[in-house]
Amino acid sequence: MLLDHNNEVIEIEELSQNIETNTLIMPGLFNSHVHAADIGLRGIDGYGLKELVGPNGIKHRYLDTLTADQLNNSILKAYNEAKEYGTLGWSDFREGGISGLKPYPVNGSYSHIPFARPEIDKLELLPKFANIGIRDVAAHTEYEMKQLTEFSKKLDRKVFIHISEDINLRDEWRSKFGCSDLIWALDNLKADAYIHLSHADEDEIELMESHEVGGIICLRSNIFTKSGVPPLKSLIESNLTLGIGTDNAMFSELSIWEEMKALSRHDIKSNKLLKMATIDGATLCGILWGLDKGLSNLIQLNIPKYVENANLKDWLATECDQRNIEQIIMNQYQ
Ligand SMILES: [Zn+2]
Repeated sequence: MLLDHNNEVIEIEELSQNIETNTLIMPGLFNSHVHAADIGLRGIDGYGLKELVGPNGIKHRYLDTLTADQLNNSILKAYNEAKEYGTLGWSDFREGGISGLKPYPVNGSYSHIPFARPEIDKLELLPKFANIGIRDVAAHTEYEMKQLTEFSKKLDRKVFIHISEDINLRDEWRSKFGCSDLIWALDNLKADAYIHLSHADEDEIELMESHEVGGIICLRSNIFTKSGVPPLKSLIESNLTLGIGTDNAMFSELSIWEEMKALSRHDIKSNKLLKMATIDGATLCGILWGLDKGLSNLIQLNIPKYVENANLKDWLATECDQRNIEQIIMNQYQ
């Protein structure tokens, strides 16, 4: 593989099937769903989902206390942690409406894809670089939710939404609308990807396939909040494009390696995990990723001598971590 002076791939040629140097260059990891700003609450424990991240919950009360500089520093801290772990792009849910998008210390070629929560009456102020991230189906009125997603489609922005994470909200939707929050969203909204899907059933996953939407799995977050483990077998066997997210930075370290390890305990093939953790996750955000000409989001890993070629992908998905990273290769890396 040849790189130019900007670290962009300009030529790729398969030279050998054998690992001869114990060095591997692979696409950097992509975190399909993170809330970077709440890293200052790292270590919090003993609360349920609603208390942690619900309306007026611990996270929102905390974020309201931060000055713009403090918010900036929080995001910078999360960014540095993610980068250290070989994650070279993320889809970051930003709270605080349009103004919550302002602090952003991430520069250079890092692929940061912000998802804002714009106020309905300020939609026209949404910056060009931002997409729309919705808390859940109850975040706005039914009319406003439709307005929000139609607006995003008109401007060609992505819409991601947390769905079927909270079993109570799912039940509430059933009694209110006669269907789950996921079915309601598929019928009424035009979201590009659904996050969590902890309580989705097989019929719903089939319906997602027919709507050609993506899914984002945040397994360690679901375990942390005790909100329920998603139907991983059905999701993996579906033809949905799936990404992997760490979710709130306050829950755990921003390590996609650890997410892959947790998922691998559910009998998911390493090849699939590596694809979800890199190219597929980025695809959901509409960006190109991987070993290709003109791209530059690579990590150079040191492979221990005991790892054989035939087991390389299993090793990457179940044992590798940030300690194996020798070099991060990014265009204009900062
Ligand atoms: Zn989330």
